[in-house]
Amino acid sequence: MKELTDEQLKILAQLEQKQAERDAIPESQKIPISNPDKYTFPIGIPDIVTLCPYCLGIIDEQELTCLACNRNIKNDAPIEMTVAEYNNARQVDCPFCKKSKLGLAKVCPSCGK
Ligand SMILES: [Zn+2]
Ligand SMILES: [Zn+2]
Repeated sequence: MKELTDEQLKILAQLEQKQAERDAIPESQKIPISNPDKYTFPIGIPDIVTLCPYCLGIIDEQELTCLACNRNIKNDAPIEMTVAEYNNARQVDCPFCKKSKLGLAKVCPSCGK
């Protein structure tokens, strides 16, 4: 086996120290990741939300109907936006129920009109 260079030994020592620091954290103080799917995006790729094509409510692609407007979401392609786009999207007041909805939404997620 080849001797490790000083640089490699230094990195190895740092990694071992980091691991020891992590191991020193009591189990009760470790923060569990409640939604692992959210953390599977490679670094640098923005988080994408999948939206109902009608009311633009956030949907789960496994579902057949939108939980907000109850429409069948399998007939139309869902809309994808980054979280930043979604958060910055213009909000308007629904003319029927007066609750706010995304300006681009064809259907109000609150009243379904
Ligand atoms: Zn919907
Ligand atoms: Zn409404």
